[in-house]
Amino acid sequence: MSETKLFGTNGIRGLVNVELTPEMAVKVGCAIGTFFGRKNLLLGYDARTSGPMLAKAVISGLTATECNVFFAGMAPTPALQYAVKNHKMDGGVIITASHNPPEYNGIKVIWSDGIETSHEQEAEIENVYFNNKTVFAGWDKLGMAQELLGINDEYVQAIKNHVDPQEIAEKHFHVVVDAANSVGGLTAPPLLRELGCKVTTLNANIDGTFPGRLPEPRPENLTDLSSTVKAIGADLGVAFDGDADRSVFVDENGVIYSGDKTFAVIIKPFLIKNPGSKIVTPVSSSTLIKDTVEAYKGELILTKVGSVTVSQKMKELNAKLGGEENGGVFYGPHQAVRDGAMTTALILNIMAETGEKLSKLVAEQPQYFIEKGKIDCPDEKKEILLQKILEQVKGENISTIDGVKIWFSDNSAILIRPSGTEPVFRLYAEAKNEEKALKLVEDYSSQLKKILETI
Ligand code: MG
Repeated sequence: MSETKLFGTNGIRGLVNVELTPEMAVKVGCAIGTFFGRKNLLLGYDARTSGPMLAKAVISGLTATECNVFFAGMAPTPALQYAVKNHKMDGGVIITASHNPPEYNGIKVIWSDGIETSHEQEAEIENVYFNNKTVFAGWDKLGMAQELLGINDEYVQAIKNHVDPQEIAEKHFHVVVDAANSVGGLTAPPLLRELGCKVTTLNANIDGTFPGRLPEPRPENLTDLSSTVKAIGADLGVAFDGDADRSVFVDENGVIYSGDKTFAVIIKPFLIKNPGSKIVTPVSSSTLIKDTVEAYKGELILTKVGSVTVSQKMKELNAKLGGEENGGVFYGPHQAVRDGAMTTALILNIMAETGEKLSKLVAEQPQYFIEKGKIDCPDEKKEILLQKILEQVKGENISTIDGVKIWFSDNSAILIRPSGTEPVFRLYAEAKNEEKALKLVEDYSSQLKKILETI
């Protein structure tokens, strides 16, 4: 962690007791409490072994700075976000490292609307933290800490309001849930059972060492889910990340889909029912999303990469649907944040309404091949390299929202983006065939290297 920054893309993250220590957590709690100032905050954690230790430290800092803490215990990030709004809290704090391995933990700060704090708000918290601007309460003004139980159940009930439980129940779906030994197991199995599904669970016991699989729902971590769905003849499989805001789906044949494919499955009926709606997605998303939004007469809104940016754009435009390639779907009528259990209910609702298997719903989509690459680039040269690329691609169909994305007339595209955390430029290409996608990565990589030699 740097000398001036605490927050990364999604909150504060670090190795437990190495980067993220109890002392630091107390100080972070003090900074968050000073930022909010005498407010009511909800706090909870995911299944990590360090959750209780860090939570107590953060609560200590929050109550020392006059905030009242309502402690919700173990819960998925979206359940806490929902509860912040539902209980009219002024904000919240979630102790989670999302998809990172078990030795990590982190701290996310939630605003009263349930959305993670903006980068500007994070900078205010950092200012308190690094410049020792904590405002301590007098001994007679300390905040109170008390429990607030039952938020997971409230969240499950709220999701049911956005789908047709009877229609889903009539289909008697059999769903396999891989909960990553974390908080997704607290809400998704009960939700699916209440929707009349037969549920088989994998890694549903809470265990902060994550013995079942790593909490990032990447295909290489989901082989058990894939083979189980196929072996027992289930209709669907779903895997969550460590804090259950993202969900990745497996069809009845055990095929694992990237998040953009399942997001497109959700976009189609949404636009049929809500014509002309705005669909929000980062510029890194597949052209499949653009195609689907255009085909069903929606309006595509592109943002910088990052879930907080998607949430905030949805709020700003009052957009009702957003999504990311990594399995994050934002369903505005419920809440404008990534929500794994809500996404699962939406997929089942679509399968029930259409009577189609997930494989069929995905098969009707246009197909793209994706290739990724990266080239080394020192941090100090990133901006000038980006400028030079922009000069070269003038006149083409481009977006400069985040890095530079170029769309070509044959429906291929490439995104060239400086990494926020490493001294590299990343390239993401996609095309209708594998060779073209590979060629795009190769061509632009060598072009970038050539420019780099001159600067
Ligand atoms: Mg997550």
